[in-house]
Amino acid sequence: MRPTHLEVNLPQLKQNLENIRAHVAPAKVLVVLKANAYGHGVDGVAPFIAPFADYIGVAIVEEGIHLRKMGIKTPILVMGGTLREQLPDFFEYDLTLAASSLDLLTAADQLAESTRKRIKTHLKIDTGMERVGVREYEAEALIERSLVCSQFVEIEGIFTHFANSEVMSLPGSEQSPETRPRNDLVEASLQLERFQEVLSLYEKRSEPHPALRHTANSGATLLMPESYFDMVRPGVLFYGVYPARDIERTIEVKPALTWRSRVIFSKVTRLGRSVSYGSLWQAEAETRIATVPCGYADGYFRRMTNQTRVIINGKSYPQVGRICMDQFMVNAGKDEVKVGDAVTIMGDGISPEELADWAGTNEYEVMTNISARVPRVFLGEVQ
Ligand SMILES: *Cc1c(COP(=O)(O)O)cnc(C)c1O
Repeated sequence: MRPTHLEVNLPQLKQNLENIRAHVAPAKVLVVLKANAYGHGVDGVAPFIAPFADYIGVAIVEEGIHLRKMGIKTPILVMGGTLREQLPDFFEYDLTLAASSLDLLTAADQLAESTRKRIKTHLKIDTGMERVGVREYEAEALIERSLVCSQFVEIEGIFTHFANSEVMSLPGSEQSPETRPRNDLVEASLQLERFQEVLSLYEKRSEPHPALRHTANSGATLLMPESYFDMVRPGVLFYGVYPARDIERTIEVKPALTWRSRVIFSKVTRLGRSVSYGSLWQAEAETRIATVPCGYADGYFRRMTNQTRVIINGKSYPQVGRICMDQFMVNAGKDEVKVGDAVTIMGDGISPEELADWAGTNEYEVMTNISARVPRVFLGEVQ
């Protein structure tokens, strides 16, 4: 086992899911397993968590195929965009299509009818991301088309995605549109209204709406109960991380990741000697420099140079000198730090938020960038 590895606490993930479920019931929970389960390692997370999830969400069809090849039987929604030529994979692997355009829905229907194979789809409505999906003001044609699909196409769901659901309504959000911050829940509420407009098209035609209406990502799961409908789609929250700092902690979740390593070299350096590429840090006195075998190729961002800290033997030490591709150095001062000593890079009090701040990014990017070179060790795994 490589000394640098990621410990993933599977029972903690299950606990997070249970706490989310208790909060949103009776709504169902789609667990988002895209991007290698937000870096946690989908090969360990998926088999453990799938039995407890109502639905699984992935971004791309390849992620869905990977899960099916692992033997996962839970329904899987491919939430992102799909090319026509990828449609056969949805039939072969029993994946749910996000019908994000009239053309795509039509192509899926034609393929279903000609091959006499079944496919499930969720209509994807774009209410304010301008990314993938049919805008609310052009949704009528999509709905009309969905109502005349062949018996092989099941219109199981309809959904949209928020652009700004994770920021608390700030005081003064009743200000005029020109002066109020754009990132409060006013934008998300507007998106919700647009989604409701689309749903009302079903009422107008006296047609039942699809059984699974869903909109809520982590931010909306925390802040907008009116957005739950039939199912929620928490990603980062399931992994124990709040999507923003200022949100009241109404759902109890904890991170499941601990990034560990061991000291690979330890030396006492002299006053004035500089450490690592670019000589960005010099010893101002005789001091112990410990080398940790983890670098930016592992996802420990180079731009965090001279800003981070690690825990060795229960004590916090600053990272010094340019972070290298495969290693970084730590200033252990006068302490006796030995080769082989355990190092915590994230966890044990170092939060994903702290790393995100050091790197000038968000927790999502920190977690999803931990590279494939870092082995994942799954705690509490069913054997
Ligand atoms: C990634 C994603 C989510 C989860 O987002 P979080 O902010 O991590 O909760 C939900 N829905 C869709 C469509 C997504 O792409």
